[in-house]
Amino acid sequence: MLITDLCVGCTRCVPYCPSGAISIGKDKKAHIDRNKCVECSVCYNNANCPVNAIQPEELEWPRSVREVFATVYKEHKQTNVPGRGTEEMKTNDVTGRFRPGEVGFSVDMGRPGVGVDLKDVEKLTMALAKVGVEFEPLNPLTFLMSDKKTGKLRDSTVPDLETASSVM
Ligand code: SF4
Ligand code: SF4
Repeated sequence: MLITDLCVGCTRCVPYCPSGAISIGKDKKAHIDRNKCVECSVCYNNANCPVNAIQPEELEWPRSVREVFATVYKEHKQTNVPGRGTEEMKTNDVTGRFRPGEVGFSVDMGRPGVGVDLKDVEKLTMALAKVGVEFEPLNPLTFLMSDKKTGKLRDSTVPDLETASSVM
């Protein structure tokens, strides 16, 4: 959250935003474009705002989806997987999710700075489901699906064009 009243327009935070969501308005104060913001907290953690105008915010569903997919240290509540959901792919040697005879693969869509809209992620998950791909049950993205057989995401996430620096 940016408390515009406090902002002194020093511009320090602007280049830190990987999504280009922060701009200085005609009022010479910083403003965040909520549509572009992926809730990664980079501005809060790194810009060192001289007047503490950037503050953490308790986000509600579905906005909170952005935060858990874009903030490295946030843990997905359903899976206890931190780090945007790649852990279960990278720890197969200890978790043994993929057994002999099975093939596991991951698709990485968007990174901090480029992001991806969930409506585009859904296009891919539905295409993969059509060719018989099974989704990892403990991947955070799988929890956003209303139908794991078709790869369809819950309607409450997609129409809002929630953006994720996503992994599946
Ligand atoms: S760093 Fe703080 S004071 Fe400077 S432009 Fe950003 S919000 Fe405003
Ligand atoms: S939370 Fe991230 S995306 Fe949003 S304004 Fe700050 S740096 Fe930009």
